[in-house]
Amino acid sequence: MNKFKLLTLSLIFAGGLSAQTSCQGLTKDSVSCKNTTKQGNLCYLHNPNYVKTETTKAVVCDGTTQKGNSCKNKTKDSSGFCHLHRD
Ligand SMILES: [Zn+2]
Ligand SMILES: [Zn+2]
Repeated sequence: MNKFKLLTLSLIFAGGLSAQTSCQGLTKDSVSCKNTTKQGNLCYLHNPNYVKTETTKAVVCDGTTQKGNSCKNKTKDSSGFCHLHRD
């Protein structure tokens, strides 16, 4: 009974490890890629089918305040203006 339990546990453990495989791709210097991947054998850098999820970075607003200073607000809007200067 105990042996069976142990086997089941080790199987779960092994399964968890194999869920992440190291990338089969090569870097620009022809060194094997150190990235790990959970899908297929190629990491997001080497997988041509990988779809980049656009991460929008917050930028400082391009607008100017009423005093003529540049606005310090950060915005993720594509216009580059914060909510105060957008319209
Ligand atoms: Zn890779
Ligand atoms: Zn602004």
